[in-house]
Amino acid sequence: MKASVFYGKDDIRFEEVDKPEIGTNELLIQMKTCGLCGTDIHKVLEESVPSGSVLGHEYAGEVIAVGEEVSDFALGDRVTGGIHVPCFTCEQCSRGHYTLCPEFKKTNIDPGGFAEYVRIPEEHVKDLLYKIPEGMSYAEASLTEPVACCIHGQKAVDIHAGDSVLVMGAGPIGLIHSQLLKNKLVKEVVVTDVSDHRLNNAYDFGADATINTAEHDLETYLQEQNHPGFNIVIIAAGVSALLSQAMNVLKRGGTVVCFSPFGVKPNVEIDASMFFRDEKSIVGTYSVSPYEFEEAILAIQQGVIDSEALITHQMPLSDLGEAIALTQDKTENVLKIVLENK
Ligand SMILES: [Zn+2]
Ligand SMILES: [Zn+2]
Repeated sequence: MKASVFYGKDDIRFEEVDKPEIGTNELLIQMKTCGLCGTDIHKVLEESVPSGSVLGHEYAGEVIAVGEEVSDFALGDRVTGGIHVPCFTCEQCSRGHYTLCPEFKKTNIDPGGFAEYVRIPEEHVKDLLYKIPEGMSYAEASLTEPVACCIHGQKAVDIHAGDSVLVMGAGPIGLIHSQLLKNKLVKEVVVTDVSDHRLNNAYDFGADATINTAEHDLETYLQEQNHPGFNIVIIAAGVSALLSQAMNVLKRGGTVVCFSPFGVKPNVEIDASMFFRDEKSIVGTYSVSPYEFEEAILAIQQGVIDSEALITHQMPLSDLGEAIALTQDKTENVLKIVLENK
C-alpha cells in the first residue's frame, strides 16, 4: 500500500509501505478521507517528529477486515475515530484528565491517517471508534476529531448564555469554536486574526464582529469602541503573547482558555495581581477524550458545524506536501484541507 511519509519539511514522499496486519481484536480500514490538522502542519514545519513518520489522525474510512473477536463492527461499516485512548482507571483518568493519562499517547492508529489502509488497534475498536451516520460523507466525518477537540476545550470553562466571548485566531479551530459558541446562545462572539481573508470567513461561522489585530491594537481598539471586555477568551492561535493580551481584555471574573501549543517562546508576562483582585483565571486544554466524539458527530450531523463552508479543499492523499504548502500561502483562502484516498 502507499502512504504519505514525512522525511523533512520539504520532503514528504508518497511511497510504498507495509500494509498493516490485524490481530483478533482489531480492524483494518481503507482510509477514505483524513483532515490536515494544525498540529500535523506544526510537526512537519518544525520537523518535530522522526523521519519516516506517517501523520494524520482526523480519519474516516471503511472497514475492510475484521478480527475474529470483534463483534461491534462488520465489513463495510463506515467509521471515524480519534488517535489516542486513555486507560480510564489511572490517577489522571479518575480525575477526568483523560488526555493526561500516561497510556494516552502510547496508543496510536497504525501507521497514521495519511495512508491507504489503517490498522485500528483493540483499545480504539473498544472505546474510540464510531459509525458514521447515514447521509454524512466521509469528508464531513473526518471533521469529527477537530470538532470533538473544540467541544473538549469548551468543557474546560463554564459558558453561560449571554456571555461575551473572544476567539483569538480564525483558522479552522477558531471557526469551529465560534460556531459551537453561537449554538450556546452566547451574546456575542468576536473573532480576531491578522488576515482579512480569514476574518471575512468568520462571519459565516457565527462571528458577530471581527478585529484585524495586524491593523489595530486590541486593547486600544476595544477601549475606543467602549467595549466592556469579555467573559471568556479562547486562544486558538499558537502565539504565546496572545495570553497577556487575553488577560487584559477579560472582564473581572472571566476565564482565558488556552487551546493552542505555545511551544515557541512559551514565557509570557502577565499582571499576576489580576488573579486575586479580579478573580480572573486561565485554564489549559489538550486534545480530546472519548467522551466528546458522539457530541461532535451530532454537531456535524445537525449542521451546528457548517462542514461545507469549513472544508475549502479536497486533495489526493499523494499531495500532502502540496497541501501543507497551501496552508502557508497567505494569498489563498484555505480553511480545512481534507486528503482523499480514491
Ligand atoms: Zn487534529
Ligand atoms: Zn489513565
